[in-house]
Amino acid sequence: MEDGADLRLRFDGKELLNLATNNYLGLSTHPAVCDAASRAAREQGTGSGASRIVTGNSSLYEKLEREIASFLGTESALVIGSGYAANLSWLGALAGRNTVVFSDRLNHASIVDGIQLSRAKHVRYRHCDMKHLADLLEKHRDVEQKILVTDSVFSMDGDCAPLREIVDLCEEHGVLLALDEAHASGIWGEGRGLAHALGLADAVDIHMGTMSKAWGGYGAYVAARADIVALVRNRGRGFVFSTSLPPSVIAGNFAALFRIRQNPNEGQRLLGMAQELREVLGKLGFETGGSETQIIPVLMGRNEDALFARDFLLTKGVFVSAIRPPTVPAGTARLRLSLRADMVQEDLELVKSAFTELAKEIQSHE
Ligand SMILES: *Cc1c(COP(=O)(O)O)cnc(C)c1O
Repeated sequence: MEDGADLRLRFDGKELLNLATNNYLGLSTHPAVCDAASRAAREQGTGSGASRIVTGNSSLYEKLEREIASFLGTESALVIGSGYAANLSWLGALAGRNTVVFSDRLNHASIVDGIQLSRAKHVRYRHCDMKHLADLLEKHRDVEQKILVTDSVFSMDGDCAPLREIVDLCEEHGVLLALDEAHASGIWGEGRGLAHALGLADAVDIHMGTMSKAWGGYGAYVAARADIVALVRNRGRGFVFSTSLPPSVIAGNFAALFRIRQNPNEGQRLLGMAQELREVLGKLGFETGGSETQIIPVLMGRNEDALFARDFLLTKGVFVSAIRPPTVPAGTARLRLSLRADMVQEDLELVKSAFTELAKEIQSHE
């Protein structure tokens, strides 16, 4: 399938509404963003040539980092090659053999890998289970160096971390708090993330986010106090030992951030559409779990049921992904809808009617 990030795909000569990407704001094809990226490629070439600490630096990176820090209200920010590399880098820089890292069981794989590489003790708590977390914190009361890391929005369930309770527990136990805003950046909190939406930004020590999702580009940021960012800059192996992003990517990210700042309510509008769709799905008898975001899982249970539903929706002009184990727990195969702010009401109506027909089809088989 071509044009994989576009809102509309052509498949077998048919037009499909694409609800299978993380391009939540449609920025990857925005003309101003594409212009900025192509201008940078023409003027500065296709590659940066080296790591930032060698010769791969340019004023563009620093300009983007200053802009991100000002957007998030942190002292400092660092741009790293990808979200995966960013999680490995900050965890490697801040955690070691004497650290205990508390981590939600459904955290992204890059967090799991980052903890393992850091050699810290990995303590996983049940998904969003604050009672379990409190018990584990109590059990490790005497450990000096403690970090808690969680996704703010979970990618397969579309639910949110209970950040208020997490902040309270971290303060009570003297734990450094890191938040991976990969699926919230650009959308929640006028684009700043879930922490800002809940008024808790200052209680989060490390804000991490990707430019590869709602920003429509590539790369990631770590934003924090200047001393923390300096540690990641000096010791983060995914930063130090990897070639910096091409100038065109940085310029595209900069233009995307400009759009996000200029349109602070896009994310809220998107979340409103998701709420409207969840209500319709619920009335049709579909289960959307704990979804509160633009990511809506529709739980199907068996793999073959999820695949049948995906194929049926394709015939109605809606493309969604069918997510199966081992990506999700056994018996929880699901459709994953990621709604986008560049959808218009007509598109939303198409999705509603496609699911209405799917519900009828399923009933006729029962
Ligand atoms: C996608 C994602 C990442 C990795 O980001 P990339 O830029 O794709 O490497 C990290 N954390 C979470 C929660 C993600 O969803």
